[in-house]
Amino acid sequence: MRPIGLLCMCPKCKVLETCEFMGDKMLPTKRFKQIHNGEAYHDCGSTNPCRLFHISYREFMLARSEEDGNGTISENRQGQ
Ligand SMILES: [Zn+2]
Repeated sequence: MRPIGLLCMCPKCKVLETCEFMGDKMLPTKRFKQIHNGEAYHDCGSTNPCRLFHISYREFMLARSEEDGNGTISENRQGQ
């Protein structure tokens, strides 16, 4: 199985980072750590899990500029 890159966005501070997943298991990064059930949490202390996008950072920024910043990108949550 190959890891897939998902874009994680912290709902609290809006930090974006690409995280890799093997199935529903996240490979932890410095700032994003998986707690359970595929939910990743940012280390800023956010109590809400990060939003995950099946899209690359570059695609996200492109789509966002096309949508004029209102972000209508479809969202895919892991494990729910
Ligand atoms: Zn955060």
